[in-house]
Amino acid sequence: MAFKDRSESTELKIMRALNARSNLSPKEKKYYFKLEKGYQGELMFDLLTEKLQSDIFVINSLCLEINDTVFQIDTLIIKQDTIYPFEVKNISGDYFYDSEGFHKISGNDIINPLDQIKRSKLLLSQLLQNPGYTIPIRPTIIFINPSFTLYQAPLNQPIIYPTQINGFMKEFDRTPSKLNDRHKKLAERLISLHSNKSPYPDRLPTYEYRNLTKGIVHPKCNSFMVSDGEKVVVCEKCGDVESIESAILRTVEELKFLFPDSKITTSLVHEWCRVIKSKKMIRRILMKNYKAIGYGRWFYFE
Ligand SMILES: [Zn+2]
Repeated sequence: MAFKDRSESTELKIMRALNARSNLSPKEKKYYFKLEKGYQGELMFDLLTEKLQSDIFVINSLCLEINDTVFQIDTLIIKQDTIYPFEVKNISGDYFYDSEGFHKISGNDIINPLDQIKRSKLLLSQLLQNPGYTIPIRPTIIFINPSFTLYQAPLNQPIIYPTQINGFMKEFDRTPSKLNDRHKKLAERLISLHSNKSPYPDRLPTYEYRNLTKGIVHPKCNSFMVSDGEKVVVCEKCGDVESIESAILRTVEELKFLFPDSKITTSLVHEWCRVIKSKKMIRRILMKNYKAIGYGRWFYFE
């Protein structure tokens, strides 16, 4: 079992919401699909790390900050003598490598993952240096997509290609490891440092509340849901049913990550969800699930 479960980055959650609630430009859409694809790759890697039997801590989607620099580690595994950060790449197609990096044979270059892991190794070691950890850090790049090919692949680099993954995981699991309390403290410390900030805030499009389509989005198919009676909402496209309470809470969470500074009030949630007629019901659900703060005009939920 993972020491920390995977969750979508705030960046992906925002782009998903904007994709459903606004008209993204082709460039923004491309960026959004890239994030979704990356996340799918991480989930594929999770299926492999879940099978590991040795005594290890698996920490998924860790976002750390040091000196105002935010960096992301897709998967971090703590073993007895080493910390292994993994950078998972879910790209497909034919690429070639030269001294300047990774290039797509027909298309755009990708950010050099070797530079990426060098950077995160440096930042991670800086972060861990303070309390005097001396455990070595060995980053690895995993190309998870079976239809990825790299020509002129560099030798002696910590890169695992699709055809090597199974063997690598077996070998990784075979190296003995025995964890103790010190490892646990390290894992807990890293998780306590996890930040929800985006490492690339300037890659997000700008958006405003008034320009976004209001309503309850069905996460499975990105369509809007309509209310059906007093207890449930139904997806217009696929017909899935969800309880009003769960749909409202989900939609409030969306409001919170899209607009972290806004105060959650009954009126705001009523407008944002659009299809829930009863303000009383919204208020009751908010009262039950959030902490009410203030009174009268200044009443809001946290
Ligand atoms: Zn649906």
